[in-house]
Amino acid sequence: MCIFCKIIKGDIPSKKVYEDEDILAILDISQATKGHTLVLPKKHYDNLLTIDNSVYLKVMEKAKMLAEKIVPNLGAKGANILNNCNDVAGQSVMHFHVHILPRYDKEELKIEFTDHSKNYNLDDILNKIKQ
Ligand code: AMP
Ligand code: ZN
Repeated sequence: MCIFCKIIKGDIPSKKVYEDEDILAILDISQATKGHTLVLPKKHYDNLLTIDNSVYLKVMEKAKMLAEKIVPNLGAKGANILNNCNDVAGQSVMHFHVHILPRYDKEELKIEFTDHSKNYNLDDILNKIKQ
């Protein structure tokens, strides 16, 4: 059983931010920013590519609802809502979850996009995606 399934079952303690029949939100044990929260479905899905659409929509709806509360209540100025899909993208727990990262200033966390556009043929990429 995965670590989040154990948390859902109650075998491992957690700081519960929100819970309903389908969804659990907990404080991340390693707070990348103050109030860093994870929103997860109670049913196990490995990742974004395999999660059922209706469950995904429920997770995202709750992530938005919680961000609307977390940001003002903690005095943040904004947030990053983030999902890591598979090891290559930084997913370490293979139970689908969305991170809510409240943001207080630009320097505390770096999510950087480097421009590689000159190395890529955008039309080629478009054709492959649309196949
Ligand atoms: P990811 O790297 O996107 O898979 O995110 C997994 C997150 O789960 C990390 O930010 C961890 O800090 C967090 N995490 C791991 N174990 C626990 C735990 N027992 N309770 C709360 N958060 C956890
Ligand atoms: Zn699980």
